Amino acid sequence: MNRPPVGKITVIHGPMFSGKTEELLRRVRRAKIARKRVQLFKPAIDNRYHATQVLPHFLAQAADESVQVGEEAHVISHPREILPLVENETDIVAIEEAQFLDASLFDTIRRLSRAGKDLILSLLDQDYRRMPFPIAGSDRTVGDYLAIAHESLKLSAICVVCGEEAHHSQKLTLSGINGEGKPEYSPASFYSEVVTVGTSQELAQNKLFAEKKMDFPENIYEARCRYCHSVADEPK
Ligand SMILES: [Zn+2]
Repeated sequence: MNRPPVGKITVIHGPMFSGKTEELLRRVRRAKIARKRVQLFKPAIDNRYHATQVLPHFLAQAADESVQVGEEAHVISHPREILPLVENETDIVAIEEAQFLDASLFDTIRRLSRAGKDLILSLLDQDYRRMPFPIAGSDRTVGDYLAIAHESLKLSAICVVCGEEAHHSQKLTLSGINGEGKPEYSPASFYSEVVTVGTSQELAQNKLFAEKKMDFPENIYEARCRYCHSVADEPK
């Protein structure tokens, strides 16, 4: 029987600091050892550490243009850029931080799978309110990618407060500077901005901090368990 090829869709998901990037890169490297051809994509919004390489977070401190520990990635700002870049010989298409791309990625994934390409996605699955991460410009959430996956792997982080298993990303907002000149942070409001796609106030502020035009970042994130996670102004 002559069946058309179907690419396998794998989703790696979890909170921030749960090792999603490390797991994606581990799978990419294994595939390369198996002589598979892999193309890696990342959204332009995720340029926190390196412009064209995907780096695990623990290497972020050391990241600069000369660091070659990551894998070369196509930096894209829209899913429509993916299909024209995928080469015929490519076996696997890996997409890092896929939650930052708009909902047309859903169709792109299905088309690549139908063309016989395996897909590996890493996804932040919840926003800082513990809600399924919304996909910009649509009613979809990243849960839709889980629904069409053939395999999914949920990763957890470690709660920085109590050391238990963490499934949530805690957003903290700068609330003041104490007497010793140290910044004080408090849980972000339920109504503060969820970073989805494109430029945002938060990314602009983080850029100012990175350029040392601000003393402290406006927002910081930590992994936390459900008991230690909190959101200000959360509806009952
Ligand atoms: Zn905890």
